[in-house]
Amino acid sequence: MTVARTIIIFTITVSLVTFVAFFGRLPAFRNTPIGFLNRLFLIHIPSAFRKLDLALTNGRITNGGARLGNYLMHDKHPLVVIFFLGLVTACATLFLPTVWHLIRPHHKLLAFVLLPQPYIFLYLSAKSNSQTYITTLNHAEQMRHYPYDRVLYYPGTPCRTCKFLKPARSKHCSICKTCVSRMDHHCIWVNNCLGRGNYKWFLALLLSTGILIAYGAYLAYYSLSPLVHRHYLKYEGWYRYSPKQGVNTKSWFGYFDKKTHYFLIYTTIYLDMGGVRGSGVGLLALLTWPLPLGLLAYHVYLIWAGMTTNESAKWADWRDDMADGVVFLGHRQEDTMQEYRSAAPAREHTHASSHSSSSTSPFPTPPETSPEDEEPPTTWPLESRHILIRTRNGQPPKTLPSRIQSVAREHSFERVWNLAAVENVYDLGFWDNIVEVLSN
Ligand SMILES: [Zn+2]
Ligand SMILES: [Zn+2]
Repeated sequence: MTVARTIIIFTITVSLVTFVAFFGRLPAFRNTPIGFLNRLFLIHIPSAFRKLDLALTNGRITNGGARLGNYLMHDKHPLVVIFFLGLVTACATLFLPTVWHLIRPHHKLLAFVLLPQPYIFLYLSAKSNSQTYITTLNHAEQMRHYPYDRVLYYPGTPCRTCKFLKPARSKHCSICKTCVSRMDHHCIWVNNCLGRGNYKWFLALLLSTGILIAYGAYLAYYSLSPLVHRHYLKYEGWYRYSPKQGVNTKSWFGYFDKKTHYFLIYTTIYLDMGGVRGSGVGLLALLTWPLPLGLLAYHVYLIWAGMTTNESAKWADWRDDMADGVVFLGHRQEDTMQEYRSAAPAREHTHASSHSSSSTSPFPTPPETSPEDEEPPTTWPLESRHILIRTRNGQPPKTLPSRIQSVAREHSFERVWNLAAVENVYDLGFWDNIVEVLSN
């Protein structure tokens, strides 16, 4: 019982710590105990340890640790990919031979189909993609995917490393050392940035991994339960595992205690019957399948909301600043919008000619850029009518930066208190958002 209990507690702890470490940084958990635990583990405890180490050894211990941590978190390396693939491979190698003779042919076939999928989708997410990375060769095309909403993205913003203007929804990744199109986030599990071109493979990776793990947990239960049911009545010492007497199951704690006790009993019997190879892997699968599927659910929410992980953090910043009363919403002058420009034949001709002249030369870098180069027409069906700015003193803006002055007037700005007042032009509606994500 003691060994089984140790395995169970260890597995649960690893699952919880993994959850807090990888999901605690999401903006959705910012003001929750999960976000607090994430900051405690990754910021407060290391900084307290660093102070202690500085006082005791002049920082000798933490310098080495910081270099290792920096390498693991901020450098491009395949260690986490190797760990992930190693874990899947090791679990499959231990588990399948143990239960193979206990499962029916259609389950064997299903296992054969499901097992390779995480490997394939991880490969597709990790390999460089001509759409994901922005280069001087595809930059002009990348500028035409999304309009600048003047809320999260402004035209004319250069990337100092890549030496070109950042397309809307892009972000420079310091690990991949390139600007990434429709940047979602840099994922250490696939050792690559996820954006336009490979985000759909990442979703497929989460789905296939979640299904594989959940199916593994089911197979462990399905294949071992006949053994357990055949043996548990005469199982030596079963009586020792029976629930504690005198537990008040009406109280919340008593109920929880009894359920936990039953869970421990069953897990212990399964571990005894199936061993670590069968039940140990099954238990790990039972406790970890919600991780990829939970992350997938979060990304489905992001798709529903028409935003990326990167943008969800930006929206969360705006929401906090709005609550502080320092954010002002302005209305864009209609003649500065693509929709109205393209409706005016004379202006359209002007823009067309300036566009053709720009395409004959390499894409210019600031400050020589013309407004047309900074904001070329896009194929996106929506265009922002809003401009959002924050002021330091919380007062309405008196003078606007020239970049904003050219598209809006001071008097059009009014204070906004919540995000409901702002339109998200990258949100086309749930189904169109899904189509957009899956087709790019
Ligand atoms: Zn860049
Ligand atoms: Zn990256």
